[in-house]
Amino acid sequence: AEKISVAQARRPEAIGKEVLLQGWVRTRRDSKGGFSFLELNDGSCLGNIQIIADNRLLNYESEVKRLTTGCSIAVEGVVQASPGREQATEVLASRIFVYGWADPEKYPLQKKRHSYEFLRTIAHLRPRTNSFGAVARVRSAMSFSIHRFFQEEGFLYIHTPIITASDCEGAGAMFRVTTLDPLSKEPRNPSQDFFGKPTYLTVSGQLEAEAYACALGKVYTFGPTFRAENSNTTRHLAEFWMVEPEAAFFELSDNMDLAERFLKRIFRDVLEQCAEDMEFFDRWVEPGLIQRLQEIIDSEFVRLTYTEAIDILQKSGETFEFPVEWGRDLQAEHERYLTEKHFRRPVILIDYPRQIKPFYMRVNDDGKTVRAMDVLLPRVGEIIGGSQREERLDVLEQRMEELGLNKENYWWYLDLRRFGTVPHSGFGLGLERALQFVTGMGNIRDVIPFPRFPGNAEF
Ligand code: ATP
Ligand code: MG
Ligand code: MG
Ligand code: MG
Repeated sequence: AEKISVAQARRPEAIGKEVLLQGWVRTRRDSKGGFSFLELNDGSCLGNIQIIADNRLLNYESEVKRLTTGCSIAVEGVVQASPGREQATEVLASRIFVYGWADPEKYPLQKKRHSYEFLRTIAHLRPRTNSFGAVARVRSAMSFSIHRFFQEEGFLYIHTPIITASDCEGAGAMFRVTTLDPLSKEPRNPSQDFFGKPTYLTVSGQLEAEAYACALGKVYTFGPTFRAENSNTTRHLAEFWMVEPEAAFFELSDNMDLAERFLKRIFRDVLEQCAEDMEFFDRWVEPGLIQRLQEIIDSEFVRLTYTEAIDILQKSGETFEFPVEWGRDLQAEHERYLTEKHFRRPVILIDYPRQIKPFYMRVNDDGKTVRAMDVLLPRVGEIIGGSQREERLDVLEQRMEELGLNKENYWWYLDLRRFGTVPHSGFGLGLERALQFVTGMGNIRDVIPFPRFPGNAEF
């Protein structure tokens, strides 16, 4: 027998083949006349395959009829055309081997819908559910699509450090790295942190990516990022994955074009490659999801300045929880108003006030704003944050002084402006925000396998 996946066995081409399938039982249903139907899933696709087991199997009474949700089995048999309209094929079993039982009194996943809150408490078992299997497959496809996009655009994949001394000012609160005494397992004194230097888990690979862009042209980094966000929102994690392209000789308009092309491409890839999973989300998680994504792929993103956005918000007649005032950062409610009500399209906002953005963004001629760029989507708000970087040494140094930053800590970053400086730009996309958007999942904790948030690091 040929060992194949459930996804392969579900295709009409498999009909007539002798196969070996391995997976987990979703349900068992017994029929009169000595046979049972098993729904088998192995994670290769959303759907199950129906296994027909009958009393000619040696262990039919002793084992097959005791199979319950979650048991792991191997099935040998022949794929045949299914008389049902739901699926093309089914498997008539000639042998069933049981790897492991799952006591139905104790196994927490039963054939019913469980709440996401409950599933978060069993993050090690939730990938066995339809929703989390689908999220995992979409996450994989999207990650691969991200790499494909940048590779095709000529970007070099670089790896920026996780442990870093530079703090990418303004990106968010940081976790500090501590050295433990090998015997007591207690933190050593702070002067011995990372061999005498204070270091942190990276909040962004941008500064390091800039160094590589200023040598290799177009680069991107894609890895875990850490922020000590002590907030309980549905859009923030303490550990998330960020994609950060950085390109030399890139103006802000090039950066905007890249971001728009990039988002459309990964949405399109996921729709194409995860069609079955996306239909599941469309049906059970967010009705109309696929059409909404399609509209975004076909749309032209609105581009406007922060100042214009403030004007629109002030004239909107809406009552917001947070005040709208030039010089204050926008909140999710404002971002959603722009994308969901005013424009009904994705929005790229540029030219934010300098006082609310970090030191490295390029100062505009007006002296008041910087070449920042946030991409806002309906429902999730900010999905990308980026900017053209300040390439002029004197302006950058002045900005750092203004913000009270110690220039010595950034000596290498300033070197990039001291020697052969060039205009350059880049942005950061939160992978989980993008996943929330394409799956319709309401909480960011449900689109990453083992979420990190205040009070949760059990798994
Ligand atoms: P927000 O305003 O939503 O807090 P930010 O402006 O602090 O985001 P950036 O520093 O611009 O975030 O990071 C770039 C991108 O990384 C964001 O646009 C978002 O997609 C993602 N991101 C930022 N913080 C988090 C987080 N705590 N959890 C998950 N994704 C995040
Ligand atoms: Mg933030
Ligand atoms: Mg922001
Ligand atoms: Mg941002």
